[in-house]
Amino acid sequence: MILFTPRQLDAMMAAAVAARPEEACGLLIGAREADNRIRVTQLAPSANLAADRRRRFEVDPALRLRLQKALRRGPRDIVGHYHSHVDGPARPSATDLARATEPDLVWVILAVDDGGVGAVAAHRLAADGAGFAPLDLAVADGAAR
Ligand SMILES: [Zn+2]
Repeated sequence: MILFTPRQLDAMMAAAVAARPEEACGLLIGAREADNRIRVTQLAPSANLAADRRRRFEVDPALRLRLQKALRRGPRDIVGHYHSHVDGPARPSATDLARATEPDLVWVILAVDDGGVGAVAAHRLAADGAGFAPLDLAVADGAAR
């Protein structure tokens, strides 16, 4: 399960709406807790560096490197990333699967259309790497810090 605060979820949804018709993206910083629970403690919004931002996303590698350095000695880590699908479903596309190589990272996808964000879902690369498996996504207030 991946756990967000209401504020984090709102921020991701607002970013998806603001970026439309392009895809929004960013990194998720958090902590791995007991029972396979991942608690997101911070969002790190990224510029979308893809050439075709309406259909692709690319998180700024410099942002990721900077965060990795900053987090190296702490208990928190980059636990995943998020991006939006404009007029598409909240599940990974074939392009996403082709680019997924890190089984530890959670993929959060927001489906956004002219009515706003219709769905938010989390996935993770399956153990055999052949596809994505859904991951429970929960929203709760709590000790986000
Ligand atoms: Zn995608």
